[in-house]
Amino acid sequence: MPTYTAPTKDMAFVLHDVLDVENEKIPGYEDLTPDFTSAVLEEAGKITGEVIAPLNVVGDKEGCTLENGVVRTPTGFKAAFDQFREGGWTGIASDAEYGGQGMPYILGMAVSEMVSSANQAFGMYSGLTNGAYAAIHAHGTDEQKQTYLPKMVSCEWTGTMNLTESHCGTDLGLMRTKADPQEDGSYKITGQKIFISSGEHDMSENIIHLVLAKIAGGPEGIKGVSLFIVPKFMVNEDGSLGDRNGVAVGSIEEKMGIHGNSTCVMNYDGATGYLLGTEHKGMRAMFTMMNHARLGVAMQGLSQAEAAYQNAVIYAKDRLQGRAVTGAENPDGPADPLIVHPDVRRSLMDQKSFVEGARAFVYWGAMMIDRAEENGDKDADGLISLLTPVLKGFLTDKGYDMTVQAQQIYGGHGYIEEWGMSQFTRDARIAMIYEGANGVQALDLVGRKLAQDGGKHVMAFFDMVKNFISENKEDEAIADFIAPLKQASKDLQTAGMFFMQEGMKNPNAALSGSSDFMHLFGHVCMGLMWARMAKAATSALDAGTDDPDFYKNKLVTGRYYMQRQLPATGMHLARIQSGAENVMGLDAEAF
Ligand SMILES: Cc1cc2nc3c(=O)[nH]c(=O)nc-3n(C[C@H](O)[C@H](O)[C@H](O)COP(=O)(O)OP(=O)(O)OC[C@H]3O[C@@H](n4cnc5c(N)ncnc54)[C@H](O)[C@@H]3O)c2cc1C
Repeated sequence: MPTYTAPTKDMAFVLHDVLDVENEKIPGYEDLTPDFTSAVLEEAGKITGEVIAPLNVVGDKEGCTLENGVVRTPTGFKAAFDQFREGGWTGIASDAEYGGQGMPYILGMAVSEMVSSANQAFGMYSGLTNGAYAAIHAHGTDEQKQTYLPKMVSCEWTGTMNLTESHCGTDLGLMRTKADPQEDGSYKITGQKIFISSGEHDMSENIIHLVLAKIAGGPEGIKGVSLFIVPKFMVNEDGSLGDRNGVAVGSIEEKMGIHGNSTCVMNYDGATGYLLGTEHKGMRAMFTMMNHARLGVAMQGLSQAEAAYQNAVIYAKDRLQGRAVTGAENPDGPADPLIVHPDVRRSLMDQKSFVEGARAFVYWGAMMIDRAEENGDKDADGLISLLTPVLKGFLTDKGYDMTVQAQQIYGGHGYIEEWGMSQFTRDARIAMIYEGANGVQALDLVGRKLAQDGGKHVMAFFDMVKNFISENKEDEAIADFIAPLKQASKDLQTAGMFFMQEGMKNPNAALSGSSDFMHLFGHVCMGLMWARMAKAATSALDAGTDDPDFYKNKLVTGRYYMQRQLPATGMHLARIQSGAENVMGLDAEAF
């Protein structure tokens, strides 16, 4: 059975050596001393490694079951969830006013990474609750906040997000679910939502559904969509639970992965709902959370790659096959371990350089969200808005690829369920689809985010990379990071110019290259992260660290990324510049 050990040392490296959180002028960050973060990370590492990870395979094998309208989660999930809740972990980054621990989002992200690596399906119950909490926190009335937030912070009540209907996923303007205004100010919600994660289950006393629906007579399409709070059980004035509301699970889906999370068809039959935010501005309320939710999914790409990689390393050191090409390394044994073979190493280096770079990228993204939300920093807000589709699309595509590579290390055993490696691949796959399929992330990046605010944010990104390069161009110790970063950044700018010149004349040319652009951008961000990590590692070595091997290994891993992964920017650029004809040249009938 696979195991998981939280990579607390690497997390601390990103937080302290690279991002220097303690000295970042963001409220709450002053508490993030190495002693404090290490205590939190170690404790989170214990519960995720010892309690939640062992349930990962159980959840995969048992899945959820629906009987007489009740969804049962896999054996052990509820008890582990109670322990997790009671430890205060579900509200680690929630507002102290509602019972949360009030820690910065970045620390919550590190803990979420552990939960998701340990058991992605399990982590979704609290993850979606955090998303619904954030929407009510940002858009709710005082009464709504007082009614729902304390119980959602503690996950005594969990939350869901209801957007998708059978005929509308990406194109939410087609939505049919209706909201009829009532005299008492509430609404009656009628319609069917599908694929609702954690829609019904036995882990909490109540479920607070956030539902997108159209109020009759409102504007057509997406502009007529509003957001509603629809509790499973009505809440009495004293906060106790009342009658069952008119919402019920219709069925649960059989799916490729995340079996431990219930994916439900939810039927709303005149259910009582309360408007959240402003009429017809439901998408705006949803968009407030988009950066959080999509960064959370980006983290899932990292989390599955990390867990799969850890197990691939164990296997590669244990499994004896063949001899090292340069002479036996285990002469007393019948063969050498897999890890001696260069192609196995190549794969492990792909995985290692991805997860460490991705961790820095995700935590940096979380820091930008903290800057934007806690300091009202508009530049950080613009930058994270630009990078959100890159984080989500690139890290989940690559995260999935890395789980396949980890599975490959096991040869045929990776394909056999007994070893548990296929679960990482199956679980990682959904992150490429939900919260906006990755093709749509690429569309958002090229069609909307690049030109947002007159292109100001992408220019700010280029300036940031340029400044880093010019500040460090004399630093010989990281010269082999700076030169490839410069080339990759040039490729990205050339691609951006191509879109500007061609995009207006031929929109198909821009959109035919959108996924390549998203990946090109992702590589540049990872290159920047690796260059910053290299800088931090050389500084630690210069300062006489007591753990030089850790930092030297960082440099070796980073060089691998710069030399073996970053050159992909040239390939993506060439594809982008080849235009639309090779993509759109065939008539639809020719397929
Ligand atoms: C396990 C699971 C859990 C989920 N959880 C939730 C949940 O909790 N709440 C919720 O509301 N939804 C949830 N979803 C739904 C999910 O968000 C949608 O499936 C997803 O957004 C895609 O919508 P769709 O399936 O209708 O695909 P479609 O919109 O039909 O898209 C199909 C394909 O076409 C591409 N495409 C569509 N339009 C364009 C375009 N304009 N340009 C380029 N490409 C395009 C997409 O990238 C995609 O690859 C979940 C789905 C699954 C499978």
